[in-house]
Amino acid sequence: MAGLLRKQYDIGVNSWTQVNLPALTYLKELPELALSDTASLEIKKLGKKSSYRMYVCGITPYDSTHLGHAATYLTFDLINRYLRARGSEVNYVQNITDIDDPLLERANRDGVDWRELAEQQIDLFRADMVSLRVIPPAHYIGAVEAIPLVVDAVKELTLKNSIYEVDTDLYFAVRNDSEFGERSHLSAEEMISIFSERGGDPLRQGKLDPLDCLVWMSQRADEPGWDSSLGKGRPGWHIECTAIAMKYLEPTSANETLIDIQGGGSDLIFPHHEMCASQARVLTGRELASHYVHTGMIGLDGEKMSKSRGNLVFVSQLVSSGVDPMAIRWALISGHYRTERMWSHELLGKAQLEIALLREALSKEQLAPTDTLIQSIINALSNDLDTPNVIAALNSWSRETINGSSGGELTEVRAALDALLGLRL
Ligand code: ZN
Repeated sequence: MAGLLRKQYDIGVNSWTQVNLPALTYLKELPELALSDTASLEIKKLGKKSSYRMYVCGITPYDSTHLGHAATYLTFDLINRYLRARGSEVNYVQNITDIDDPLLERANRDGVDWRELAEQQIDLFRADMVSLRVIPPAHYIGAVEAIPLVVDAVKELTLKNSIYEVDTDLYFAVRNDSEFGERSHLSAEEMISIFSERGGDPLRQGKLDPLDCLVWMSQRADEPGWDSSLGKGRPGWHIECTAIAMKYLEPTSANETLIDIQGGGSDLIFPHHEMCASQARVLTGRELASHYVHTGMIGLDGEKMSKSRGNLVFVSQLVSSGVDPMAIRWALISGHYRTERMWSHELLGKAQLEIALLREALSKEQLAPTDTLIQSIINALSNDLDTPNVIAALNSWSRETINGSSGGELTEVRAALDALLGLRL
C-alpha cells in the first residue's frame, strides 16, 4: 500500500492559476507595510526589502473552503499584493496537510478513501482561490510529498538531543527551546487545555513534558504509513510546516529572522505556530519569523462557525448559487482581519450594493479624482491592513463620482483596485 501512496503523490500538488497583476507605474512610493505581530503584541513595520518570505498554513483537505479559510487567505493575499506593488518579490509558501487524523476520521465516517477525499477537497480549494482571485503560492506543498524533509528535520533535531521515543512514536521536547511559549502569551494551564483541544495529547504516559509534540507517528492498524529511516509511519502536523518552511523559503543568515511572516488563523497561534517556531529555533538557533500574523475567526449570524455546529458556509456553495466572488471578497475585507467577524445575509447584501455603486461610478464618463482615492487606499492598507477604511474611501468616491465630481482616471483606479485589492469589476 505504501508504494502505491508514494507513487500517487510523487508528482506533488500543483498550486492554482496565476493572477495577472497590473503595474502601478504612476505611483512614486508606497509606505512601508506595518502589521500586527502576535509575539511582540505590537504593530511593526516589515522593513524595506527587495524580497520577503511568507509562510501561510494551508488547509487539511476535508472541508474546504469555508469563509473562515477564505478570510485568512484573502488577508495574506492583500499583504502579498501590497509588497509586490512596492516592487518587492514575495516568496510565498503554503502547505496542505494531506495526511492527518481529521482527514482520516472524516474519510472513515463517510466511507470514502482518504486520498480521494483529499484530492477532491484540494481541487475545490484551488477552484475557490481562483474565483476569489488569490495569488497562488510559489510553492504549494503537501505533507505526503514533504515526508523526506520531515525525516531530515527529525534527524537534525535528534542530533540536538530534542527527540525522544514514546512507545514507537517520536516526540519533540519543547523545553529545549528556552523561549517556548513566549510567542503565544498563555499560562501553562491554558497551554495544556488548548493543546488538548487542538490535536495534542498532554496526558499521554511516557512524555517528558505534557506539551511535547508528536513529530513521527508509527503506523497504526488500518492507517497509511510510509517507510523511512524513522520507521514506517507518518509525520506530525507541526514538524510538517517547520520542514516545508525551512526548505522552500530558503532562510539565509543575512536576515535577522529566518522568515518575515508566519501566518494563519488565530486558532493556529497555539499550539501550531508556537511549536513550529520552537522547532525552528532548536534547529537553527534563530527566531522563525519577524511577524506572526493571525486572522480573526468568522462566525455566522452571531454564532461561532465550526465543523461541530455544522454551520460552515462554503465559498463554492455561494459561488454556485450565483454570488459574485468579488462580493465575497468585498464582504470579507469590509471588517478588519484581526477582529472576530460575523458573516450574514445582510453583510453580503451590503457588499453587493456597494459593489453595484462602484460599478455604476466606474461606468461614468467623468470620475471623481482618483489620485487621492488611491492614496487613501494605500495609506489604509499600509496601516495594518485597515480595510474598513479602504471600503469607506471607495464608497465615498463612488458617491462623489455619481454626484458629478470629475478629474479622475479610469485606468488608474481600475489598476489600483485590481493590483492592491484583487477586485476586478
Ligand atoms: Zn502550518
